[in-house]
Amino acid sequence: MTRIASHRGGTLEFGDSTPRGFAATAAMPLDEVEFDVHPTADGAIMVHHDATLDRTTDRTGALAALTEAEIRSAAIDYAAGEHPISLSDLCAIFRNSSVDLRCEIKPGADGLPYAGFVPRVVETLEREDMLRRTGFSSFLIATLDELAVASDRPRLWLVSPAVLRQLGPAAVIELARSHAIPEIGVDVDMADAALMEMVQRAGIDFGVWGAHSMIQIDKALHLGVKVFTTDRPSLAIVRRRLLVETAA
Ligand code: FE
Repeated sequence: MTRIASHRGGTLEFGDSTPRGFAATAAMPLDEVEFDVHPTADGAIMVHHDATLDRTTDRTGALAALTEAEIRSAAIDYAAGEHPISLSDLCAIFRNSSVDLRCEIKPGADGLPYAGFVPRVVETLEREDMLRRTGFSSFLIATLDELAVASDRPRLWLVSPAVLRQLGPAAVIELARSHAIPEIGVDVDMADAALMEMVQRAGIDFGVWGAHSMIQIDKALHLGVKVFTTDRPSLAIVRRRLLVETAA
């Protein structure tokens, strides 16, 4: 059965990377929670999508230049005043949940990997006893290479539409193989059966991201991808159940 990943805790249902969204996700009958991590200036690891607070909160600044306390004081937009949480907080929310972690390692505001960040994320997850339940994702090959050194947990390459268009499927597959990347994810709007088959024939697992509308969710389910991320986890659960019932 196609796996569902609640993207940033279900952004369109609960706000972007909110405690409420993650808590709701932890109680849902789905498979994974997707979230993004950044380092702070004082050595903490925070769960937040962008490299800065500007777009999604009432504060500004790069997370890597702010302290944990400063980031925690930001109010997330459309989230009833809720504040960003740390990676350890997120682990606590999911410790007793059946939903596994899908941790995206983000680059800094300059688009480059944070120096020495990957091993710290792995160590934190290990300390929280959640590493064994974590898969990693990144748009950056360099970050996936760092992950391979730091952990033997699954790694997923997020292939952007620009990269897929520019390189083409064959070169994307070749690049994934040459870096021993076992799984890729493409934008749901770029996915089709031919691409999925080509990737799978190369021995690489295939998933999609950005399935936020009902049409996109149904597309991912009907293609039968391995996993998809969605900002509407509640809707995705309903659609998956419907598909299973129809097939039965
Ligand atoms: Fe992400």
